[in-house]
Amino acid sequence: MARRKKIYEGKAKILYEGPEPGTIVQYFKDDATAFNAEKKDVIDGKGVLNNRLSEFFMTGLNQIGVPTHFIRRLNMREQLVRSCEIIPLEVIVRNYAAGSMSKRLGIAEGTQLPRPIVEYCYKDDALGDPLVTEEHIAAFGWAGQQDMDDILSLALRVNDFMSGMMLAVGIRLIDFKIEIGRVYEGDFQRLIVADEISPDSCRLWDIETGQKLDKDVFRRDLGSLTDAYSEVARRLGVLPKSNVTKPTLIN
Ligand code: C5P
Repeated sequence: MARRKKIYEGKAKILYEGPEPGTIVQYFKDDATAFNAEKKDVIDGKGVLNNRLSEFFMTGLNQIGVPTHFIRRLNMREQLVRSCEIIPLEVIVRNYAAGSMSKRLGIAEGTQLPRPIVEYCYKDDALGDPLVTEEHIAAFGWAGQQDMDDILSLALRVNDFMSGMMLAVGIRLIDFKIEIGRVYEGDFQRLIVADEISPDSCRLWDIETGQKLDKDVFRRDLGSLTDAYSEVARRLGVLPKSNVTKPTLIN
């Protein structure tokens, strides 16, 4: 049997050549990294949870007409996605201040923002993904004006969808990051949501208790990351409500 071709290995995922032209197999690793990989660990089960959660969000987005790269899940750790040209930007949408925005602007974490704020970072690990403005993006040709209009519209639609999904299960969507890919269809090109949407790339706080259910649990040593991600998956119905780890007594 021929060994499949690895296209790229990142911090949390590996990309392999897909079975048909224009497809890629996205494999979710258990590796967790933070602070540009200064903090590292292997968290049992994280890859499986993120594969399922990303499938859940991307499928929902596809269904409401927000195009994504997701085609179908293949197994516990892999999904088939459309191959695309990734725009070298991290698109961050914030509903509440937290993380780097709180630090940068001195706004207390959890402060509601007057409206969703979209930020762009240049994707470059060596530089630590620096914040950039639309001026940089235009001047350096990372994306054109039409692309920027489309990126903003995609980011806000993802925000509406994700905020609603989360609110329904008692979770506040504080912020998230997405990546955008370019696909070519004949003479046309189109932008789609790519990479992953998971608790690795979102901030999710319980509405009642403020408990963090996202990667900050790992970044800030707040407890078990898989417990937090499993809780999100259970509330969304992606995992069964009860863990069948203990025998259940009937009557
Ligand atoms: O660190 P910062 O506050 O800028 O992160 C904003 C949001 O973007 C968080 O939800 C974080 O998880 C996500 N993010 C990410 N990958 C990065 C940087 C930020 O998923 N490289």
